[in-house]
Amino acid sequence: MQTLGILGGMSWESTAIYYRLLNEGVRDELGGLHSAPLLLHSVDFAGIAALQKTGGWQTAGLQLAQAAAALERAGAGALLLATNTMHKIAPAIEAAVNIPLLHIGDAVGEALQARGVRRAALLGTRFTMQQDFYRERLAERFGIQVLLPDADDMAEIDRTIFAELCVGDFRDTSRQYYLNCLSRLRKQGAEVAILGCTEIGMLLDTVENAPLPLIDSTEEHVAMGLRWLFSKD
Ligand code: GLU
Repeated sequence: MQTLGILGGMSWESTAIYYRLLNEGVRDELGGLHSAPLLLHSVDFAGIAALQKTGGWQTAGLQLAQAAAALERAGAGALLLATNTMHKIAPAIEAAVNIPLLHIGDAVGEALQARGVRRAALLGTRFTMQQDFYRERLAERFGIQVLLPDADDMAEIDRTIFAELCVGDFRDTSRQYYLNCLSRLRKQGAEVAILGCTEIGMLLDTVENAPLPLIDSTEEHVAMGLRWLFSKD
């Protein structure tokens, strides 16, 4: 296997899930003491989150592009950017390296297409839900119509991501809020819900009967990383 690079720390709570799932995936496939050959660049998320808030996407893109180039120099053969939101600056990363960036939107889009989904609800940060970079990729490459929560729900979901989920605070009240929001989106015609933020899976992983089938961006992105690892023996 070649080495897979991870741009993580956004937040480290979900990067830890990537690390565990990638290693479990390699162990399950190869057995014994096998584990995933990985390089991790983990940022201080406070700085990146501040740049998101103030619209400093270009600066954030530059920082992550430099980190991506360092991972390439250190021997990574492909990259996972372990956050949906920062895929807004995926083009800056792609321009800085000669190795593939395994795009989280494509991982989700392929999973939706494989299930024959046409209309999917999207939960994520306000940037992922409101801006074009994620929804347009799903629409243009995979023919997915994305349904969004209403303005109040979007604000509350965004708030919980940064104030709770990214700092490892998983509350029953927020879990119930998300489930109520999913019920509303089902009534609007959503067939599935995209957990388009890498921390949401940790909030909902104990839920047995969600109002909609859940497509977890973290799990789909890891699966894409594993397919790359196993294709590079
Ligand atoms: N991990 C989250 C995501 O998947 C949010 C953190 C961030 O803003 O990068 O979008």
